[in-house]
Amino acid sequence: MELQGKCALITGSTSGIGLGIAQCLAVAGANIMLNGFGDQKEIERIQQQLASYHGATIGYDDANLMDAHAARNLVTTTAKTLGGIDILVNNAGIQHVANIEDFPMEKWDAIMALNLSAVFHTTAAVTPIFKRQQWGRIINIASAHGLVASAGKAAYVAAKHAVVGLTKVTALELADQSSNANITANAICPGWVLTPLVQKQVDAIAQRESIPEPEARVKLLSEKQPAKRFATPEEIGSMATYLCSDGARMITGTTLSVDGGWTAQ
Ligand code: NAD
Repeated sequence: MELQGKCALITGSTSGIGLGIAQCLAVAGANIMLNGFGDQKEIERIQQQLASYHGATIGYDDANLMDAHAARNLVTTTAKTLGGIDILVNNAGIQHVANIEDFPMEKWDAIMALNLSAVFHTTAAVTPIFKRQQWGRIINIASAHGLVASAGKAAYVAAKHAVVGLTKVTALELADQSSNANITANAICPGWVLTPLVQKQVDAIAQRESIPEPEARVKLLSEKQPAKRFATPEEIGSMATYLCSDGARMITGTTLSVDGGWTAQ
């Protein structure tokens, strides 16, 4: 219950990694604002499940974060709904795979808008609040692709590298603890996690190489991730929970890899 009474906005938390982070922060006692798209009934079920842990407030807002104003407003709505905001997890993201010469312009713009610009807008909206209350946590879900590249992922790799840079600037602007402020900004860099975003890439390998889906999973993993298994959303959530703790107060402006050895190579 280390986060009891804290209020957390997790973007893109109706699925995958964001949902795993929401689960972990709710288990630690935090009030949660969910965001993202999906089936209304399923989202209500998630809200009830998270509320059942400790009776915390679990809100939901379907803001489309490709819209800059919607991204900024989501911070205000979260503070109103939960009674405050202490933790911002920028997680919503999309992927598109194509070589640069074939990369559709609208896909480039969409990936930049969601994976990068939305992180800037929510951060800009939350920073004055964190400065006022002298406490805050910003956690940006970057990627192993924020540290190293893969062919076919121009927009994603560019956006994730930029998120790592933005995280460092954010951390520096909030770093001063001489008046006892306790605000940090960090980027978690996951390797492969088997979410809908990655399942699409597994299916593409299976189709391209005419191999069964389980074989495509093994192929995807063995190309990059020495652990040869997928990380789980809960493993990313554990790292996020730790970064929210007071024990992590001196960790700021850095990247935390949860990638089964991917970037050690
Ligand atoms: P996912 O597809 O399971 O979840 C994406 C979430 O974002 C969903 O809740 C979706 O509704 C939401 N979303 C999509 N478009 C949105 C929009 N315009 N506005 C608001 N919400 C929107 O994906 P995931 O794999 O869980 O990815 C989450 C984050 O983790 C992304 O930033 C991704 O780049 C990053 N990541 C994923 C992996 C992986 O292996 N899965 C690895 C490294 C980093």
